Amino acid sequence: MDLDLLQGAADARGEPGYRAAQVWEWAARGAGGYDEMTNLPASLRDELAVAVPFSTLTLEEEARSRDGTVKALFRTADGHPVEAVLMRYRDGRRSLCLSSQSGCPLTCTFCATGAMRFGRNLTAWEILDQALHFRRSGELNHAVFMGMGEPMLNLDNVLSAARRLPDIGITHRRTTVSTVGWLPGLRRFVDDVEEPIRLALSLHAADGALRSELMPVNDRHPLDDVLAECRRYVALRGRKVFVEYVMLAGVNDRAEQARALARLLGPKTFKVNLIPYNPTGRFEGSSRKAIAAFREALLVAGLPATVRLTRGRDIDAACGQLAAAR
Ligand code: SAH
Repeated sequence: MDLDLLQGAADARGEPGYRAAQVWEWAARGAGGYDEMTNLPASLRDELAVAVPFSTLTLEEEARSRDGTVKALFRTADGHPVEAVLMRYRDGRRSLCLSSQSGCPLTCTFCATGAMRFGRNLTAWEILDQALHFRRSGELNHAVFMGMGEPMLNLDNVLSAARRLPDIGITHRRTTVSTVGWLPGLRRFVDDVEEPIRLALSLHAADGALRSELMPVNDRHPLDDVLAECRRYVALRGRKVFVEYVMLAGVNDRAEQARALARLLGPKTFKVNLIPYNPTGRFEGSSRKAIAAFREALLVAGLPATVRLTRGRDIDAACGQLAAAR
């Protein structure tokens, strides 16, 4: 819901100042429409329903994975596709994967989103409406900005959305913004964000030449500078940075590459999350055995590392698979 539009509509009607907050409170708690907002005058509810669309996004399709993951495909009012994913875990975690852009202007070779046409930055409301959609079907407790797009290219809107997530039940400590290492946004994220929002870096290779091959953005923002910003984040916030590393067979999964990664990152600042490659055409994923060996090599070198549980692969909802194929 566009809360600026709502505020304008409430003001124009001479409503008391607290109306917009009242509506937001309902939406954040999972209301499905204005008609549920019983502490609003009925006439106002009717007028708002006409003047301010309840969501900035229209749901087009929802797919359910065998593992309980749900992927939603939305359209913005001007026709851009947006996908968001809800992951449910046995321990009660309900984690949202949010998109910050429709498509992505970067062209990481292993990611399906990079191959689709870039649309535009999403507004803060379009980001929040992804979360509100899933909030209607139950409580939420984690959010990652790991859907379509590069959050640091749309930092203001990402942050204004993230700042409202606690109202929906997702604290800042359980909110993570992931980046390829887009320096201008990353610098601002480190300098300006006072909330304990977490940071994740998509690294994928310790070696600069290989990283540039996999992620052309590496030529633009040198890895040393990116890592320096991550270290600054850790020094300022006292929280480790997550490093995402997608495991590509014969490309970045050799033991010596694990050792180089551990040397590059050092033992104190980062925590590595190894991501099994979700097929998008170009690469072969590393075997389970290779992933386990790589992890072991990191641990031996003193670098904490975990393997990401793959979710939603059967509905193309897993990492790197969001491409609004239709
Ligand atoms: N643009 C930001 C936010 C998207 S996060 C970023 O890249 O960090 C999406 C994560 O999924 C990134 O770590 C990305 O590298 C990873 N990913 C992309 N394609 C993948 C694939 N095919 N299999 C597994 N992970 C993939």
